[in-house]
Amino acid sequence: AAFGDLSSRLTETFKNLRTKGKLSAADVDGTVREIRRALLDADVALEVVKAFTAKVRERALGDEVNKALNPAQQVVQIVNEELVGILGGEQRKLQFAKTPPTVIMLAGLQGSGKTTFAGKLAKKLQKDGHTPLLVAADLQRPNAVNQLQVVAEQADASIFAPEPGNGVGDPIAVSKAGVEHAKQKQYDTVIIDTAGRLGIDEELMRQASNIRTATRPDEVLFVIDSMIGQDAANTAKAFLEGVDFTGVVLSKLDGDTRGGAALSVASLTQRPIVFASTGEGLDDLEDFHPDRMASRILDLGDILTLIEQAQQNFDEEEARKVAEKLATDAFTLDDFLEQMQQLKKMGSMKKMLGMLPGMGGQMKQQLDNFDDSEIGRTEAIIRSMTPAERHNTKVLNGSRRARIARGSGVTVTEVNQLVNRFEQAAKMMKKVARGESAGIPGMGAM
Ligand code: GDP
Repeated sequence: AAFGDLSSRLTETFKNLRTKGKLSAADVDGTVREIRRALLDADVALEVVKAFTAKVRERALGDEVNKALNPAQQVVQIVNEELVGILGGEQRKLQFAKTPPTVIMLAGLQGSGKTTFAGKLAKKLQKDGHTPLLVAADLQRPNAVNQLQVVAEQADASIFAPEPGNGVGDPIAVSKAGVEHAKQKQYDTVIIDTAGRLGIDEELMRQASNIRTATRPDEVLFVIDSMIGQDAANTAKAFLEGVDFTGVVLSKLDGDTRGGAALSVASLTQRPIVFASTGEGLDDLEDFHPDRMASRILDLGDILTLIEQAQQNFDEEEARKVAEKLATDAFTLDDFLEQMQQLKKMGSMKKMLGMLPGMGGQMKQQLDNFDDSEIGRTEAIIRSMTPAERHNTKVLNGSRRARIARGSGVTVTEVNQLVNRFEQAAKMMKKVARGESAGIPGMGAM
């Protein structure tokens, strides 16, 4: 399916993030690198990829992630928001003229899906109560007028075309006459199907540009084949310079597109994507919603659920382990250290404490007061203790405390403070465990 590869690559990337708590700069860089590769492999234009990843990186290293309860989730949100951004931000609807008829000109390479889209649009407009007139201004290809006639018939729409056998007509004159015809016959919209070439071509651009000048359309829609890959950037830029357009139609989005064109074109041209064409049938047309497209690419619903579940499991598991330790009266400095490291990893002590029943007040405040550097110091102190000392703080006499202080590069006072704090915490936790363990849900009898 479209974006399949990109989608699964991004999902993989985020899965690796989801169990992490606080993200290091290395985590962010690794993630950004993966995103960059996935986008390039999906044929997104290099300049778009660069701008995108720079923005994601900057935000992911900033406070909104640092302070987030769930940093991985926050990173996914950022990627999503930036994706919506490069896809154009807000949805842009087709614009109608104040005084009809609204003139809509189509431009794009041959085979991009212009004629098919003309039929789709005519059908949609009629459904919405409009009276569209299709104008066949593609007089280059022998069969083009015919093809538009077929499409018009399918859509049950009217068509204005030069009489067959009149030789090679003048597409500019036909376009003008088409708009005049619409005015006279009170059609409220005119869809001009113009010629395309296989490649970018000066003559083609001049013709399209002249049709534009002659008919002064309210919308010029550039139709681009989603499958065209890295050529999307050059093609879009050439049409922007040669004809200019007010909006984009992504065609063949139902195909196995890697997504590059879709993801590049709005950002490269600063023109909104108005429609997505998703099949050969005339009903296969969708209004384009940048946010929905981004969610689809990211599998957002899935990813966010996965992250949430992983996070919940993580918390509950930790809370259970601690509660078990408390119940068996074996809470040691090693556990204390391990617990602090967990808290540090999760980036939120409060949340962890919230998971422990009966925890709060003084205890919560104490643990709240730790910051990262303090955790580092605490770790150094505990690591300087022997296993016996860690297991039972009662053996810590003056000379042992002095040795530990030297070993960990802190003062004896700091060692004393830590030991006091631990003893107080252990006492309080035991109280909690004894007093309320029966009420801990899911713990069974203890
Ligand atoms: P034009 O030369 O720009 O007018 O392009 P056409 O409208 O003739 O389309 C070229 C080919 O692409 C035709 O075979 C269409 O049936 C096919 N096509 C157009 N739009 C879509 C689409 O959204 N999805 C798919 N799968 N095929 C499409």
